[in-house]
Order: sequence, then structure tokens, then C-alpha cells
Amino acid sequence: MIDEAATDFEAVHAARPSGVWAAPGRVNLIGEHTDYNDGFVLPIALPHTTRVSARRRTDGRLRLYSAQGDGTTTDVALEGLAPGAVASWASYPAGVFWALAEAGHPVGGADLFVDSDVPTGAGLSSSAALECATAAAVNDLYELGLSAPELALIAQRAENAFVGVPCGVMDQMASACCTDGTALFLDTRTLEQRHVPLDLTAAGLRLLVIDTRVKHDLGDGAYAALRAGCERAAGLLELPALRDLPPADLAPALDRLPGELRPLVRHVVTENGRVLETIDHLGRGDLAALGPVLTAGHASLRDDFRVSCPETDLAVEAAVAAGALGARMTGGGFGGSVIALVEAGHPAVVSEAVRSAFRSAGFTAPVTFTAVPSAGARRVG
Ligand code: ADP
Ligand code: MG
Repeated sequence: MIDEAATDFEAVHAARPSGVWAAPGRVNLIGEHTDYNDGFVLPIALPHTTRVSARRRTDGRLRLYSAQGDGTTTDVALEGLAPGAVASWASYPAGVFWALAEAGHPVGGADLFVDSDVPTGAGLSSSAALECATAAAVNDLYELGLSAPELALIAQRAENAFVGVPCGVMDQMASACCTDGTALFLDTRTLEQRHVPLDLTAAGLRLLVIDTRVKHDLGDGAYAALRAGCERAAGLLELPALRDLPPADLAPALDRLPGELRPLVRHVVTENGRVLETIDHLGRGDLAALGPVLTAGHASLRDDFRVSCPETDLAVEAAVAAGALGARMTGGGFGGSVIALVEAGHPAVVSEAVRSAFRSAGFTAPVTFTAVPSAGARRVG
């Protein structure tokens, strides 16, 4: 794979790369739409990665090519780079250089070749994988000495301010910081993280990922509107963030809010509770107990936060009906992927049940795979 990356790089950039870096996509086990409310999240990194092979340039230019792109090389000067200057996919890696330069880090030009097996727009965070692989590459190329969480924050800044997607910090933290065999318990307020061992295999379980093939689009304003709704609710409750509303105070707080904000607040508060409950179950080694927590999380996203869609709802329903211990949509919503916790012998049965339900409903066939908690961004060659 490394040789292949070097050969691909050479075909485009007419030189050998200095190295190859990889960063994974992610699924979030629980804790959805909590990261911009200062709450808790619990993602794992996928085995699927985006690889960036790279070398420095001395003329200050960025030459960016992706095997998943349109066959052209984006060529821009790093100096004078500003949000809006780069259209298309190349804004993600260009944004990482921009964010690093803006933060005062001594970065220069580079040639990049990108290749990935993370499905894009499937709620599996190909954008963070691209940003974090780029950030890891630049960190080494220019010997910046930044830590994984620091690179994640740079990547988030690139996506927020350069690409223009108002995402929280979960995806980048997962892609940069996850470790093999663990889930990342992240407090998005303090950025305190804990790597929680998650040995599904030892527990006789599998995590089935179902990509519904419905492309979500977080840039379409719905996400920004939800985020603004949460911030308005926190303001009305005179709280710094919804994270600060204790579950015991939920009912009286809802009475003080306009009707349209109540379900948003209920989701965020109960979802933070579900993350803590999951951590509890994991601490006791009771992995099967996660199932009902996942399904309850999905109901909350469907009924209160209203970010599911017919395909994600059907995938959850069919998986649970076929014997999954629990299932929920993962990622921002409006499509994307569903995760299902299933017994070791059952991924094929559950997967076929979902496939068959999609066929009956006339939906595009989903793509399914099982995932184990994998490593975050790293140099691979
Ligand atoms: P997700 O992060 O859930 O996959 P996003 O909409 O946040 O979905 O990001 C998807 C976008 O990221 C793609 O439309 C593309 O612009 C960019 N992208 C991700 N991976 C690659 C890649 N390997 N090559 C080119 N662009 C990519
Ligand atoms: Mg994304």
C-alpha cells in the first residue's frame, strides 16, 4: 500500500514523497449533536483511512491531487490564501495549511496525493479523515511538534472557517486521537479525553455499520439551524451551554422555553446522559447493555432532534427486528450511516434483513461492514 501510494504520488508530482500519513473515518457510538453543546461523545475510529503522501515544496505553492477527485491538480499559493479562495474538495487540505499558518506555525508549500477508502458523505467523517491525514503530514514535514488534539483543533478550524462547515470538534478528535481497541470518551468542553477499552470480540459482539447511501449535506443550513436553536435555548435558560442543564432540572427548564426549542433541549440533555450511561456499562464490562441505549438514542434523534430520515429509521427498525441488540443512526443525520450492535454470529442475518427491507421499500441497496475500534492519525510510510 505504501509503495503504491509513492508510485501514485510520483505519477502526479514527478518526484518521490517524503512520507505517507493515514487518518481514519469514525463512527460515533453515542453522543450525537452534543459536541457543539459542550457535551460528551464516544466515537471509535474505523479501519478505513484516508492516506496522504506528501513532500515539501520550496516555492510556497500547494499542489493537491486526490484519487477521488476530478483528475486535476489544484495549484494555489499558500501566501494570501483566504476562505473562499479554493473551491471543491481541495478546500479541506488547503484549509489545514491555512489554519496552521494563521495560528503562526511555520508551514510552507507542499505536494499532496490523497487516496481513501472512507466513503464520502456517508456520515463516516471522510472530511475529518482528509483534514487529519493532511495535518499529520504537515506536522511532520515542517516539524511543527503539535500533539494529536492540537492537530484536531487545527483541522476543525479548517473545516469551520475555511471550508465553511460549522461542525463541532468530535470528528477531528476521533480521527486524530483514537487508539486501537478503544473508544474515545471526550468531554468537548474541557477536551479531556479517556481511551475506554472496547473489546467487542471478547464480548461475543460485532458492530455492524450500515451506510444507507443517502448522502447527507451538513452545509445545507439544517445543521446550522439546529446549532443556533441549541444556543438560543441555552441563552434563554441563562446557561453557558446545554451541557450545564442537569437532567433533574430538565422538566422545569422545558416549561420556560418556546415549544419549538423543547425537543432540542430534551435530546441534548438525555443524550449526554446516554453517553455517561454507556461509560458505566463499559466500565462494568456489560457491552450487551449498550444495545437499548443505542436504540433509545435513535428514537431521540428521530422524534426530538428530527435529524433521521426514512432510510435510517428503516435500517434501525429492520436491524432490531432481526435481532440486533440495538441500533441508531450515527453522525449528523439527514442520511448517512446506522450502527447496529449484534451478536457475533449475526452480522450477515441482520445485514440481509436490512437489505431486504430496503428492497421492499424501493430504497437504494445499503453498504454494510463490521468495524473494530481502530487507530487514529499516524505516519504509515
Ligand atoms: P463526511 O465527512 O461524513 O464524509 P462531509 O460532507 O463532511 O461528509 O465531507 C465529504 C467531503 O469531503 C467530500 O464531498 C469531499 O469534498 C471531501 N473529501 C473527503 N474525502 C475525500 C477524498 N479522499 N478526496 C477528495 N475529497 C474528499
Ligand atoms: Mg464531515
